[in-house]
Amino acid sequence: MTVNVGVIGVGLIGEDHVRRLTRVLSGGAVVAVADVDRGRAERVAAALGGPRVLAVGEDVIGDPAVDAVLVASWGPTHEGYVLGCIAAGKPVFCEKPLATTQGACLRIVDAEAARGARLVQVGFMRRYDPAYRALKAAVDGGAIGAPLLLHAAHRNPSVPGHYVDDMALNDTMVHDADVARWLLAEEIAAVSVLTPRRNGRADLRDPLLVLFRTESGVLVDVEVSMNVAYGYDIRGEVVGERGVAGLAEGNPVVVKCRGRFEGRVPADWRERFMRAYDLELQAWLEAAALGKATGPSAWDGYAATAVADAALASVGTGAWTPVKLRERPALYATGD
Ligand code: NAP
Repeated sequence: MTVNVGVIGVGLIGEDHVRRLTRVLSGGAVVAVADVDRGRAERVAAALGGPRVLAVGEDVIGDPAVDAVLVASWGPTHEGYVLGCIAAGKPVFCEKPLATTQGACLRIVDAEAARGARLVQVGFMRRYDPAYRALKAAVDGGAIGAPLLLHAAHRNPSVPGHYVDDMALNDTMVHDADVARWLLAEEIAAVSVLTPRRNGRADLRDPLLVLFRTESGVLVDVEVSMNVAYGYDIRGEVVGERGVAGLAEGNPVVVKCRGRFEGRVPADWRERFMRAYDLELQAWLEAAALGKATGPSAWDGYAATAVADAALASVGTGAWTPVKLRERPALYATGD
């Protein structure tokens, strides 16, 4: 079966997802797109197979030719579109963050739980990255013993002009919150944010050192940098009771010459996580063909945004701030 997909928002990542749905993956076809910038939607549609351009996102959700919806518009618009998809009974892939406030995430959780079956997959693609999957397998395999610490870094070469301070936590760091919960298989109980001397190249609170304490007492440190200039660098290492497991440098080739050795640092998230984006959307199409959703859930989206909210409350003081989650509905009892 071919899943007919409608895409809302065809900016940087929306356009890339239309490309992979059209040219890379199997079992899906993009039949409709909408973007507040209609000219952009028309350019993307013309370049990638000519889906119909609709006026607004609600038209995409309501289109009887659309079986499933991909939301890749700006974060504050996600709630309305995801709720619209749940009401229409259509599977929806929502780029992270699920929504930018806990209240909005909980409205989505409540709507999906009331329906009694999952329709929402959140774009936490690191869970599909082969390197992260190998790291999780190493931790779950038990060879390093119980985890004690997780060291992580999320370094961006630069960020776009519309990027504001809070986005470092509620748009960027949500990936690190999700991956820590997933790797360690427990919730984050408290957050502290430390602010070192600013990067003089940026007009932002940059970098940040974000600390998580999990329910069992594992400590996580995440460096969140927005302007490292040298490339896109994602790091993670779990320290266990009798060993460590970490993401390796991902170079297929190292060049040695003139007394030096060199490898490549990915230019951006598209290069570093290309395979993960392919795998997450292929999994989404396969579940959507059955009218279902698997992978990162609305609950995972809510939990990550709750961590971001606690982090925002800690900025300026560094005080440990509790993350208070609502009781988890039975629908989200298992990881998938
Ligand atoms: P972007 O380049 O700014 O694209 C967003 C697009 O959506 C723009 O064309 C924007 O138009 C449009 N848009 C805004 N509001 C809309 C609405 N109400 N209806 C339809 N279209 C609307 O941003 P992006 O980098 O692609 O990010 C989009 C989303 O993906 C964000 O939530 C972001 O956090 C997420 N993302 C995830 C990853 C990941 O690694 N998983 C990576 C990048 C981005 P205007 O420009 O005219 O406002």
